[in-house]
Amino acid sequence: MPNQFCNPTLSTQTSNSLFTLTIAPAKVIRGAGALTSCGETIARLGTRPLILGGDRTLSIIEPYLQQLQQQQLQVAQASYGADCCEDSLNYLRKAAQQHQADVIIGVGGGKALDTAKLVAYQLHLPVVTIPTSGATCAAWTALSNVYSEKGAFLYDVTLSQCPDLLILDYDLIETAPQHTLVAGIGDAIAKWYEASVSSGHSEKTLIISAVQQARVLRDILFQKSALALQTPGSEVWQEVVDATVLLAGVIGGIGGAQCRTVAAHAVHNGLTHICKHDSIHGEKVAYGILVQLRLEEMVQGNQLAAAARQQLLKFYTEIGLPQKLSDLGLGNITLGELQTAAEIASAPNSDIHRLPFKVAPEQLMAAMVSTTAPIDSTANRVSTRGIDEVQE
Ligand SMILES: [Zn+2]
Repeated sequence: MPNQFCNPTLSTQTSNSLFTLTIAPAKVIRGAGALTSCGETIARLGTRPLILGGDRTLSIIEPYLQQLQQQQLQVAQASYGADCCEDSLNYLRKAAQQHQADVIIGVGGGKALDTAKLVAYQLHLPVVTIPTSGATCAAWTALSNVYSEKGAFLYDVTLSQCPDLLILDYDLIETAPQHTLVAGIGDAIAKWYEASVSSGHSEKTLIISAVQQARVLRDILFQKSALALQTPGSEVWQEVVDATVLLAGVIGGIGGAQCRTVAAHAVHNGLTHICKHDSIHGEKVAYGILVQLRLEEMVQGNQLAAAARQQLLKFYTEIGLPQKLSDLGLGNITLGELQTAAEIASAPNSDIHRLPFKVAPEQLMAAMVSTTAPIDSTANRVSTRGIDEVQE
């Protein structure tokens, strides 16, 4: 049972209640070497920071700590452990209380940042996020995902606000393995494929804006990703990092809970329950987009989804995103494991049911093993999503 600190809070963004917006961090400092000049800004938020990160990231950040010492800050560090899981959260809340921390600084990838944001929220402290890769927009958003110790997705928690400060230091991001940015591109393009299904017909000003920005984000990534990955640190590479870390966050912020994830993230959530998975979030989500399109194709006979899938397969080949289960290291899973993943992904409360048609686990399993299938020429019905998919 989740303890009192970890109960997911209900969204307040329903049409007939008060409307809460958590659009963006209060401040974003961005640039190569940004971390070397942030001491003063951090000192304004608190004098006893607790830095939370993984072991690798805590050692990367070490040289920058001097700066905080120059500001006379009493700094302590703690490793976030196995995952953003309830045991780690318990331990870190205690560590923060023991240190009498008055500000939390999260350093690392999505899981470290989700942990730091959630600990800060639970203790009513301000939080600074310092992403060390371009793999997610977790540094931006007012949301934390909670996993089991083994990394199985359990639930997400809506936070009361976005971080107080986000420091995006390109030099730090450049130290991350290349596949993390590739994964970030997969997670970011999912915004379009999911938001256009869940919210494409919305009449609401902010939702329309979020969906359109998701399309802009996708187009920027289609155009710039291949060149960016060939030239790490370059201007175009920085633009792609801005897209995955910042713009993807903007869309989540403006769209909020109404602009929800659909099947791509549901498939991700199901896959995290197969123990053998060793791929990261955005890689599974990218594969999940192909599964979602395949479902639209198979169940609805949607030809635009088929064309979009072919377009994505080409893009994935270009930049190295996974196209099928074996690309995720899951080539040898059993039928039983596939069924488990499909059943979890299509549980009654899953976002997969935001698709405009019913999905049975058997249909999902069929889609999961046929993401690279050639176009079915008998498909003839037209998508309700819009014509832009085939015009590109
Ligand atoms: Zn995601």
